[in-house]
Amino acid sequence: MQTLQADTVVVGTGPGGATIARELARAGEDVLMLEKGRDHQVPIGSILAYATMYDIRKSKEGVLIRRGITTGGSTMIYSGNSYDPPAFLKKELKIDLAKEVKETKKELGIQPIPRNYYENWPGTTRLVAAADELGYSMEPQERFIDPDLCDPSCDRCLFGCKRGAKWTSREYVYDALVHGARIITQCDVQKVITSGGEVSGVVAQTPQGTLVVNAGRVILGAGGLGTPMILQRSGIKGAGTHFFTDPMSVMVGLSSDSAGTWHEITYTFADESHVGEFVMGNVGAVNAFMAQIAALHLPYARRIAQLPKMVGMFVKLCDEPTGSIEPDGTLHKAFTPKDEETMAKGVDAAKSIMVKAGVIPGTISVAKGIGGHPGGTAAIGRVVGTDLMTEIKNLYVCDNSVMPRSGGIPPVLTLIALGKRFARSLQKKPSA
Ligand SMILES: Cc1cc2nc3c(=O)[nH]c(=O)nc-3n(C[C@H](O)[C@H](O)[C@H](O)COP(=O)(O)OP(=O)(O)OC[C@H]3O[C@@H](n4cnc5c(N)ncnc54)[C@H](O)[C@@H]3O)c2cc1C
Repeated sequence: MQTLQADTVVVGTGPGGATIARELARAGEDVLMLEKGRDHQVPIGSILAYATMYDIRKSKEGVLIRRGITTGGSTMIYSGNSYDPPAFLKKELKIDLAKEVKETKKELGIQPIPRNYYENWPGTTRLVAAADELGYSMEPQERFIDPDLCDPSCDRCLFGCKRGAKWTSREYVYDALVHGARIITQCDVQKVITSGGEVSGVVAQTPQGTLVVNAGRVILGAGGLGTPMILQRSGIKGAGTHFFTDPMSVMVGLSSDSAGTWHEITYTFADESHVGEFVMGNVGAVNAFMAQIAALHLPYARRIAQLPKMVGMFVKLCDEPTGSIEPDGTLHKAFTPKDEETMAKGVDAAKSIMVKAGVIPGTISVAKGIGGHPGGTAAIGRVVGTDLMTEIKNLYVCDNSVMPRSGGIPPVLTLIALGKRFARSLQKKPSA
């Protein structure tokens, strides 16, 4: 058994964990990051990413959930879309992130994709026009992407980005290291240890054996699936319930002419008129086709030669927080009748847009509901306070598990802003 010492341990390096580690390190604090995944470099931008950085889980009821297990967490495989925090954070919980959101947008250059970026995309252009005609409004999305570095015909954001055009929380991890933080990868934190009601460290498994880190402050950022497992193993009973995951259905169909979404980038336009129920947007032909194969819609595979004519759309559901996770990782998540009804409403809307855009109705295939935003499992008001502390003194959580319910929108900007606000509330001296 190996033993180490740190003032603050941060578990996980997704947007929650990495932001805090960076902020504290820049303020001169002694920070040790413990990350379950490896610092993968080779698969970035290739399909090998699926075999290395992706972790795909299936609930007992058959719902699929994806996350990233690697430095940078799920941002290594995310689309890079940026949304302002859900209104309920300020309205109901009095957590106002406006200052940190503004700062982050400026720092990372977050902006809607520029017109020259998409003006040569015939399939998406047609979807946007069709949506407009039907009374929806598919708007250009704000993204964590530098358009000057991005190749507008690539559409491989979900495999990582070879060109470094997509911001990931690895950038914050590396910056934390530059400012004196340490990291141990392939370090699977099992539980926290306590002394007299206060946190005193963590126990982890590494390829070399058991590691104990003694620390006066522990911040869990292991995500909506990882954090509740650690909390439950540490004796915190309320953790692990109210799980949501924003499942996304992906559909594809064949255009009656050649205007497919081939070489057009996924989720660059979206209709947000039903946020709180669903969001819908464009999907590049390859991603839309791959989603059918992943969902075992195998007859679609015979259409591979028609890829250039394929048109894709997605519907992302704001699902009810009714799932749960057990300490050993067993997941329970089913679609409720309300989820089914809302998803059907979204899918009907998206199908009508596709058909209006020239897709042949009989060719449309729908791959149902893969989740990608696990959260709710250590929620503010149930497991942590608005200061993000648990019932164990100096044990905190800052990741998507603290969200009491889904906002129905991608959460990375919210988690960065929350991480900044929270880290600053802890700091002994202001950040450089
Ligand atoms: C395919 C896909 C596309 C997405 N697109 C977008 C998008 O466009 N915009 C957006 O805002 N969001 C998007 N998301 C969601 C977003 O990436 C996640 O919601 C977000 O990264 C969650 O942040 P987190 O800090 O809670 O957890 P994560 O980013 O999942 O980070 C958790 C970290 O903890 C580590 N970990 C887990 N267990 C342990 C343990 N026991 N010990 C040590 N380390 C541990 C993991 O390896 C990981 O590094 C997408 C997600 C997916 C899967």
